[in-house]
Amino acid sequence: MRGTAVVVGGGLGGLTAAVALRSVGWEVVVLERAPEFGEVGAGIGVMPNAMRALDALGLGEAVREHGTPRLPGGVRDHRGRALGHLDADELERGGRLVAIHRADLHRVLRSALPADSLVTSADVVEVEPEVRYLVDGEPVVLEADLVVAADGIGSRVRSRLWPDAPAPVYAGTTAWRAVVDFTGPLEIGQTLGPGTEFGVLPLAAGRVYWYAATLSAPGLRADDELAEVRALVDGWHEPIPALLAATDPRAVLRHDVHELASPLPGYARGRVALLGDAAHAMTPFLGQGACQAVEDGVVLAAACSDGASVAEALARYDRERRPRTQAVARASRLVGRVGLGLRNPVAIGVRNALMRSVPAKAAVSGMTRFSGWRPPALSARPVGDPPA
Ligand SMILES: Cc1cc2nc3c(=O)[nH]c(=O)nc-3n(C[C@H](O)[C@H](O)[C@H](O)COP(=O)(O)OP(=O)(O)OC[C@H]3O[C@@H](n4cnc5c(N)ncnc54)[C@H](O)[C@@H]3O)c2cc1C
Repeated sequence: MRGTAVVVGGGLGGLTAAVALRSVGWEVVVLERAPEFGEVGAGIGVMPNAMRALDALGLGEAVREHGTPRLPGGVRDHRGRALGHLDADELERGGRLVAIHRADLHRVLRSALPADSLVTSADVVEVEPEVRYLVDGEPVVLEADLVVAADGIGSRVRSRLWPDAPAPVYAGTTAWRAVVDFTGPLEIGQTLGPGTEFGVLPLAAGRVYWYAATLSAPGLRADDELAEVRALVDGWHEPIPALLAATDPRAVLRHDVHELASPLPGYARGRVALLGDAAHAMTPFLGQGACQAVEDGVVLAAACSDGASVAEALARYDRERRPRTQAVARASRLVGRVGLGLRNPVAIGVRNALMRSVPAKAAVSGMTRFSGWRPPALSARPVGDPPA
């Protein structure tokens, strides 16, 4: 069937769902609580699975334009010793990872939606029996055949419709992120030190996204977060010191990492689908949180495109998305434990020896376990061109 959909939340997940649903003929309105659309945050890694989903929507090329060029990549220990390395061809064999500034990705998605489908300062308070939202405290009511709850990890819709679902929990890690102007030879890099990890993802036009994550108590903040990162990775290999030297302290963002540690028993209820972090907020150690939200949007649209009722479409969405996203979340948690989660030198030595022993071919096939995903066909016009 085709009908009307309200998307609650204009983050990366909600916007992708809106673009995908429109591409299969649905009328869509996105309700965003914030006064403006946009993304707080630095860069984001868009894995090959999500790039394929964006390609299916006709948006992949626009993302690649702003994102990581074709590069080699590798993992090192904090002294700079290689634990694994892939040249650009090998990396591409598993599909290309494209890191991009979040604001650019958000803009690319927005450009595929008509301006009048995007409503800001709209705080959704109920979705049953109809969608109710507040604008300047005044209630507005909307009817819709389908509601997509993409309202993030703290989802109000989830707590209303899944009142027994446990709240998100702190994942034991805090993370810093920044995008800096940097010229110099770089690779896609991840460095693992005791209890800490540092990542480098070059973007287009001489910009670089770096992140650092460490085991920590929650809620700690410093006046100078850049100094915190410097102290954390003191003595680590280049280009880490050079990147930090090039960083404006005001550009550094810090967030504690939370996740929905208890998987939900369902992602759909009535005509409401949960999507993205609202359904499966996960740790960032596989770089898959937003990528799974992007997949969600495309699968939801495919399910809604083939003449099925909303109930049948949402049953299919739940069947296809829940096992996969919950498996990715489990794997991400595990990767965090054996990555930055290790502090014991013996355990670190064993892990590093194991990583060094993995041949490139096996590393590529390991990477494709999740990033090898392919989107379902959308019987749709591509939406890469701006709508009239
Ligand atoms: C440190 C860190 C690094 C990460 N790195 C990566 C990475 O490299 N790759 C990756 O794929 N993922 C990454 N992630 C995960 C990724 O950021 C999230 O999975 C993704 O942003 C979730 O998108 P979303 O649209 O589901 O939710 P959100 O981005 O949280 O969007 C929800 C939107 O809903 C709005 N909203 C909330 N309540 C209401 C309401 N009542 N009414 C209306 N609007 C509402 C909010 O204002 C917001 O705009 C990372 C996460 C962290 C913490």
